[in-house]
Amino acid sequence: MNDLNDAGARERLAAVGEQIAAAERAAGRIAGSVKLIAVSKTFASAHIVPVIEAGQKLFGENRVQEAQGKWPELKAQFPDIELHLIGPLQSNKAGDAVALFDVIHTIDRPKIARAIAAEMARQGRRPRLLVQVNTGEEEQKAGVAPREAEDFVRSCRDDHGLVIEGLMCIPPLGEEPALHFALLEKLASRLDLPELSMGMSADFETAVGLGATYVRVGTAVFGARG
Ligand SMILES: *Cc1c(COP(=O)(O)O)cnc(C)c1O
Repeated sequence: MNDLNDAGARERLAAVGEQIAAAERAAGRIAGSVKLIAVSKTFASAHIVPVIEAGQKLFGENRVQEAQGKWPELKAQFPDIELHLIGPLQSNKAGDAVALFDVIHTIDRPKIARAIAAEMARQGRRPRLLVQVNTGEEEQKAGVAPREAEDFVRSCRDDHGLVIEGLMCIPPLGEEPALHFALLEKLASRLDLPELSMGMSADFETAVGLGATYVRVGTAVFGARG
């Protein structure tokens, strides 16, 4: 069982790595400029360990509580893992998020910025931060509206002392993701932010072509979620 797992994880990870490298070359980007986040949500530690052992260091989870159930132990066992929060954040989970995650992609409103800043000061931990932009302006989706992104990023810095490194988006289902990736890239370059978190299993090559520095890939690495 373990042997099969190991081989499968190794192969899928290598295949995604090759697709990223090819997309970097096609876009004329420097090799290695895109960082792969393996999205392990819904997968148990037994499925994650083979991916770590295959050499993957960046992992993403979308729920704080789920991540708390598996990552403290995995991080103790594999200290050079970098854990990314890519799902919506409630202010009552800010303390847990700051304690566990190395990068938080989903800062999206003043209340969260304030809670994260307070927890960073209290805990003396400084996870790196990105702002989520709701590029499709979908009612049910987290993220700041595109026209508010500039003011919000400035307010994170000026009012809360937070360093925002980049922007993140999740394009609406059924829409051409390239339009959303291009919008996110334009906003980030206007704000002089170096990191762009965009692209999932179905569209990460498109995202690489449009400037992604982080791609968040679950299914293509771990297989289908149950
Ligand atoms: C689940 C998830 C992903 C990965 O999705 P796949 O299609 O499985 O690659 C990426 N980003 C976010 C925010 C997610 O919740």
